[in-house]
Amino acid sequence: MDFLINLAYIVASVLFIYGLKMLGRAETARRGNLVSALGMLLAVVVTLLAGGLDFTWIIVGLVIGSAIGAIAARSVKMTAMPEMVALFNGSGGVASLLVGWAEYLRNPDSVTFTATATVLAVLIGGVAFTGSVVAFGKLAGWISGRPIRYRGQQFVNGLIVAAAVVCGVLFILNPGGSYTLFLIVIAAALILGILAVIPIGGADMPIVISLLNSYSGLAASAAGFILGNNVLIVAGSLVGASGLILTQIMCKSMNRSLANVLFSGFGSVIQSSSSQVEGEVKALSGEDAYYILEAASNVLFVPGYGMAVAQAQHAVRELADLLEENGIEIRYAIHPVAGRMPGHMNVLLAEANVPYEQLVEPEDVNPTMDTVDVAVVIGANDVVNPAAREDQGSPLYGMPIINVDGARTVFVLKRSMNPGFSGVQNPLFFKDNTRMLFGDAKTMLSELISEFKEAMAG
Ligand code: NDP
Repeated sequence: MDFLINLAYIVASVLFIYGLKMLGRAETARRGNLVSALGMLLAVVVTLLAGGLDFTWIIVGLVIGSAIGAIAARSVKMTAMPEMVALFNGSGGVASLLVGWAEYLRNPDSVTFTATATVLAVLIGGVAFTGSVVAFGKLAGWISGRPIRYRGQQFVNGLIVAAAVVCGVLFILNPGGSYTLFLIVIAAALILGILAVIPIGGADMPIVISLLNSYSGLAASAAGFILGNNVLIVAGSLVGASGLILTQIMCKSMNRSLANVLFSGFGSVIQSSSSQVEGEVKALSGEDAYYILEAASNVLFVPGYGMAVAQAQHAVRELADLLEENGIEIRYAIHPVAGRMPGHMNVLLAEANVPYEQLVEPEDVNPTMDTVDVAVVIGANDVVNPAAREDQGSPLYGMPIINVDGARTVFVLKRSMNPGFSGVQNPLFFKDNTRMLFGDAKTMLSELISEFKEAMAG
């Protein structure tokens, strides 16, 4: 029987890994999700059947959980996805904590190995739970997005970590007689999750959520060791590793270290930069923009956070279709941290049914930028800021960007000269080949669409 169970778990693990791999490419991502879900279904069914359990409470939990999940998934707005993920991570964390707690109460005199896994599950799970709740609160605006900092903060956090570790080790040495120590570890973990996240600015929450996602995976893995459940160990490790990799990618794309994100209090509110930029800003009307676009042989769209704010993805697609009808080649350059969450632009463009093969990565498009006739920047700012390349004094210096300033002509669609997330002024707006189309991105795109339609009708 054990052999069959483990065989099913291996099949489930292979499905997880295969599904994850498929998630790496837009064309296969949906199927990848299904493949992984199938793996999870197999793992859950086998675990339930093998356990010889009373199903009453499992069904109650299943019904309540599915109802909450279905309602939340249907009603959540695309821009609120990071909040939703934060809640999922928090739920994962607290589930591992509760598994650790319940298993301890069921069998207090556990061996050292199980006791160690128990401490890790409640410690990491607790941090992931309260940390995710604070991250959710900051993103949803229930808690101020500003970093909350006070003197001696790191010291206090350090003390709590030390207390948790000391109590955890003492507990492991004598689990049976150390329930109080165990409760102290739980309390320390819950407090630590809150205190570790409050000093981080609201705008950095997507990175924190990705890190907490990794923690919730590690906690699940530890819970897997407590229960002796191999598939939980594998699934938890996969979540732990992929969360860490995503955190790393996001930090690299923002040219920041994880320590800088966690401890610097950056990413609170947009501050205006005082640095002066030379050159003249040239505004362009929709009609003039039409003539330039119409004469182009290729156009590169570069979406950013402003496209999400304006919900302009459908208008971008409509304009792209009209351009293609005019024989113009279309591509979309997607920066890994454009917008406010990983994959933000991909999700919005997929919603507008933009063909995957038109999406290009910055490193692929940058070397050929001089062949681009018109780069249309739609509510992007930091991810196209040449200061990241040219100005050593800029906070963005070193961040890989999309070099739209190398295109023959650049259109920038935004409402004002306000800076983006980093608060840094953008010299791109002052370059000779840049034209500003001031206004809401969707309104400006609709204007361009009307120009094309009128010209085609006439
Ligand atoms: P930015 O935040 O740099 O700029 C967005 C621009 O959109 C603003 O300058 C704003 O200008 C414009 N905008 C806002 N609303 C509208 C509208 N309705 N119509 C037209 N334009 C609008 O965005 P980017 O995408 O270029 O860069 C993302 C930034 O966020 C990077 O600094 C990144 O590091 C950071 N970040 C990204 C995360 C991620 O996971 N993707 C996570 C956390 C941070 P105006 O007000 O003048 O209209």
